[in-house]
Amino acid sequence: MKVCKFGGTSLASARQIKKAADIVMSDPQRQLIVVSAPGKRFPEDDKITDLLISLSNAIISGYDGHYEAEAVARRYRDIGTDLGLSEDFGQLVTADLQARINRYRQDNNALTEALKAAGEDLSARLVAAYFNSIHVPATYINPQTAGLLLYKENGQTSVLPQSYTRLRELRQQSGLLIFPGFFGYDESGRIVTFSRGGSDITGSILAAAVEAEVYENWTDVDSVYAVNPSLVHDPKALSELTYLEMRELAYAGFTVLHEDAIAPAFQSHIPVNIRNTNNPEARGTMIVEHHISFDSIVTGIAGSSGFTLLHFSKFLMNREVGFALKVLQILADYQIPFEHMPSGIDSISLVMRSYAFPPEKEALVCRRLREELGVEDIRVDRNIGIVMIVGEAMAQTVGVTSRAVGALSRAGINLELIIQGASEISVIFGVRDVFTNYAIKVLYKEFFF
Ligand code: ASP
Repeated sequence: MKVCKFGGTSLASARQIKKAADIVMSDPQRQLIVVSAPGKRFPEDDKITDLLISLSNAIISGYDGHYEAEAVARRYRDIGTDLGLSEDFGQLVTADLQARINRYRQDNNALTEALKAAGEDLSARLVAAYFNSIHVPATYINPQTAGLLLYKENGQTSVLPQSYTRLRELRQQSGLLIFPGFFGYDESGRIVTFSRGGSDITGSILAAAVEAEVYENWTDVDSVYAVNPSLVHDPKALSELTYLEMRELAYAGFTVLHEDAIAPAFQSHIPVNIRNTNNPEARGTMIVEHHISFDSIVTGIAGSSGFTLLHFSKFLMNREVGFALKVLQILADYQIPFEHMPSGIDSISLVMRSYAFPPEKEALVCRRLREELGVEDIRVDRNIGIVMIVGEAMAQTVGVTSRAVGALSRAGINLELIIQGASEISVIFGVRDVFTNYAIKVLYKEFFF
C-alpha cells in the first residue's frame, strides 16, 4: 500500500482535484489518501485554513462570522459544482460550520480547534464524493473512528503510541480511503490540530501505521532543492536526501515537508517521496535512510531569522557542578524551550526562538540568573539569524567548516556564533538577522558553483 498526501495547492480547485484523482487512479497501490484543506489558487488567494481561523476569531470577538463562513462555503460550493457533484457542498459546509460553532461557542480554544479542522474534514468528504461520482469506490475516514489519538503539551501536538495499532486496521479496508489531515482527537474526544502544515504529519503517521511501501507527499514543486528557490536562481534539485538531512533542513527553514513529519516515517523506515501534482512525470525527491550516491559534500543550505541569543558568564563556572542544570531549570520554570547551548569555560550562550523568549520572560530569567546563580555579565541579542549547511558526507570530509567560514568572512559577514552538532552532519552559523539570506546565498555559491 502507498500512502499519498495531497497538499492545499493540489486540492485548491476542481481542476487540481482532478489531477490528484488521476494520480491516485494511475496506481492501484495508492489506496490511503490524506488530504489538506483547499489552498491558494493564485498568490493573492485565501487558504481555507486562514479563512477558518478568521471565522473563529470573528466568533470569539462577538461577531456572527457570516462573511467568513460564506467565503468558506463558496469555495467548496464552487469546487463541488465544477466537479459535477449533485450534492450542494456549499449547504453542507454552512451546516457543518454552524454545528461546530453551536457546539463549542462556550470554549474558545475548542472552537478554534474544531473550526481549523473543518477545512481538512470537508475536503476529505468532498474528495471521497468526487471519486464515488466517477464510480471509484472511496470512503471518507473519520480520524476518531480510525483511532488517531493526539495530545497537546506545551503547545506541541504529538501522537499517542496506541494510535498506530488502531490505524493499522485500515489495511483491512477495501477501496480508496480518504483521510483528512491536520487533526485527530484527544482521549476525551476533543479535536486537536497539529501546527500549520500538519497534514504532512498525518500522512507520515499513517504511512508508519500501515507499513506503507512509500509515503508520497504530493505538493507543487518538482523536488526539494539544495537551497530555497526564491533566493537562488535555478538551484540544484535533490533526487535524494536522508531523513536526518531533511530533519535539519526543515528545522532551519525548508518548508517542503513539515519538520515533525519526518519522525514517524524515519522510525518505521518508510521512504518519503516528494512529488509534484502539476508534473507527475517528475520523479521528485526521495527521503531515505542512507544515501545511495553522494553527489556533493553539502546536501543543502537553509536558514531563518527570529532567534535570540542569551549570553552570560561567571568566573570559574566550569568548576561548579550542576551549574548548567540550574540554568536549564530556570528556563523550564517559564516553559522556555532552547534550541542550542554552545559554551566556553566560563560562559554559556543560549539560542532560543525569539517568540519563545519574550521580553517579560527575559526579565525574569535574567534576574534569577543574577540573584540565584551569581551570573556576572548578561547580554541579550534579539536580532539573530541562523544559517545551516547540512550533509551526511561532511562528517568524513576535512575543511568544510573552514571553507564556509572563509566564504562568509570574504563576504564581510560577521559570525555571532558557530555550532557544530554532535552528529557532524550540520554546522550552524549565527549571523545578524538582516544578513541571513545573504549568508545563505554566499554559502550556496561556495559549495554548489
Ligand atoms: N490546512 C492546514 C494549513 O494550512 C494544514 C495543512 O495544509 O497541512 O496549515
